[in-house]
Amino acid sequence: MSSAVDVVDLLVIGGGIAGGSCALRAADCGLDVLTVVKSADPRNTATEWAQGGIVAEGDEDPPELLVEDILEAGDHIGWPEAAEQLADMGPDLVMELLVDRLGVPFDREPNGDMAKGVEAAHSRSRILHVGDATGYAIQQKLTEALEAHEGIDVVSAHMAVDLITRSHHDPHPSRAYSPDRVLGAYILDEDTGEVKTVLARCTILATGGLGHIFLHTTNPPSATGDGVAMAFRAGLPIRNLEYVQFHPSAFFSAQGDRFLISEAVRGEGAWLLNSRGERFMERYAPDKLELAPRDELARAIHEEMAATGHPCVYLDLANHHREGLDIEGRFPQIHAFLRSRNLDLASDPIPVVPAAHYSCGGVLVDLDGKVPDVPGLYAVGEVSCTGLHGANRLASTSLLEGLVWGWKAGAACVQDVEAGASSELDPVYARIPPWDSAGCEDEVDPVLFQQDWNSIRSTMWNYAGIVRTQRRLKRACNDLGYLGHRIERFYRSTRLSRELLELRNGIVTARSVAEAARRNTVSRGCHYLRE
Ligand SMILES: Cc1cc2nc3c(=O)[nH]c(=O)nc-3n(C[C@H](O)[C@H](O)[C@H](O)COP(=O)(O)OP(=O)(O)OC[C@H]3O[C@@H](n4cnc5c(N)ncnc54)[C@H](O)[C@@H]3O)c2cc1C
Repeated sequence: MSSAVDVVDLLVIGGGIAGGSCALRAADCGLDVLTVVKSADPRNTATEWAQGGIVAEGDEDPPELLVEDILEAGDHIGWPEAAEQLADMGPDLVMELLVDRLGVPFDREPNGDMAKGVEAAHSRSRILHVGDATGYAIQQKLTEALEAHEGIDVVSAHMAVDLITRSHHDPHPSRAYSPDRVLGAYILDEDTGEVKTVLARCTILATGGLGHIFLHTTNPPSATGDGVAMAFRAGLPIRNLEYVQFHPSAFFSAQGDRFLISEAVRGEGAWLLNSRGERFMERYAPDKLELAPRDELARAIHEEMAATGHPCVYLDLANHHREGLDIEGRFPQIHAFLRSRNLDLASDPIPVVPAAHYSCGGVLVDLDGKVPDVPGLYAVGEVSCTGLHGANRLASTSLLEGLVWGWKAGAACVQDVEAGASSELDPVYARIPPWDSAGCEDEVDPVLFQQDWNSIRSTMWNYAGIVRTQRRLKRACNDLGYLGHRIERFYRSTRLSRELLELRNGIVTARSVAEAARRNTVSRGCHYLRE
């Protein structure tokens, strides 16, 4: 991607499992694909950080059983058709694409069969994994395949600024009488600061999650809700944003670095202790203790932190574990991470906090990932709302959702382009103006900038986080509204950079989540409202 204006068949924004599978499918069928990622290394995604695994098919595990588990986890407000599509297509696609084509080295039993793990709320052992670093293995193989494909151009350190839509960007009066459509996106080259115009027959939002709008998150730094914010500015439908899943245990340090400490650690017997050394789950869930569902644990930890005024609780595997457990062998990645922080899972209690983990909502799409009534635009992966997760996500279904919807969207784009329905758009493309950066000359002031992020994250954490009340949500909406106006003003006079765009996207997404939570007065799934 060298010129200031590019025209491609397919623009994919994001190179994780969702964007990656979509790009592969479309390029296999002959489309000319441009994939842009904002990170300098295209492997830096949430996909790369996934630990536990990806859902496939267990023994005596008909698709209906997986559908039931998904709908149950989502508190029965998920979309059955989406769960059926995932359960029908997913397991074969894992084998065909990830195992046979990409060669992801999933763990195997001594007899050569795939090793299948079980996770909370799954009624069969059906999760394929590569140690405790499944996502890393998938992302490496996926990026290799994308970079090797002659139909795909992968461009890193290029960040989508905004979608180009007919209603917003076509200066011709006819736009008022034509149906809206997405025509591509403005893309910032992070090295030169230039904003390029990419015009595309189809555009895919595959930008991942939004965890970084919260004080504590398991997500990688790229998860600033960019896709949701771009969709909001383009006036697209967004659903279920109030359903943000919190993981009970992320490593806590005063420096702010977080790392997911898998549930499997609790599965091996670890106790949760508050700062006074008390095993507090005895008071919250006396039967299930540390194996209570994620939401219950996250709320209990939240309450203990509030009651003790301590910034974290402790997970103690060192003194409480299954007999004979080889701690380092069982948790190599977690062990290595903690060693790098001068802690040892085998001898130290580990400081942990709950952390924003997964967004169940996002840009509304159909079974092909197509955004209804907006030709030219698809959304896949965590940025989308397929309806699969309802009010809460069943563990290890998100990688598979990205894979299935990415694959389907790739095929649907091929049909769109082949149908030629968009060729009459060439005159419209010719009218799209270049990015106008007049008046944006101020430099980012790092102090103001950091303070704005601190305000967003602590407001979301305290008022729109694990335990919500109407009063807190009202306060969040008011405070974020004020901040939003200030950031927008600041954005309009400041030189464009990734940092600035992420801040602008972060506040838009935070406001959207808080507003969605405030509108929904039913406490359900991971939207927990207290009277
Ligand atoms: C610690 C952790 C553990 C997890 N474990 C599991 C698990 O075991 N099983 C499971 O199923 N799920 C797991 N998940 C969830 C799962 O990893 C994610 O939901 C999934 O990987 C999302 O894939 P994606 O393709 O939608 O987004 P991502 O993989 O996050 O990719 C997003 C891409 O978009 C790019 N991008 C973002 N904004 C822009 C922009 N403005 N311009 C250009 N590019 C942009 C990023 O650079 C990146 O390339 C885990 C998540 C985390 C954080």
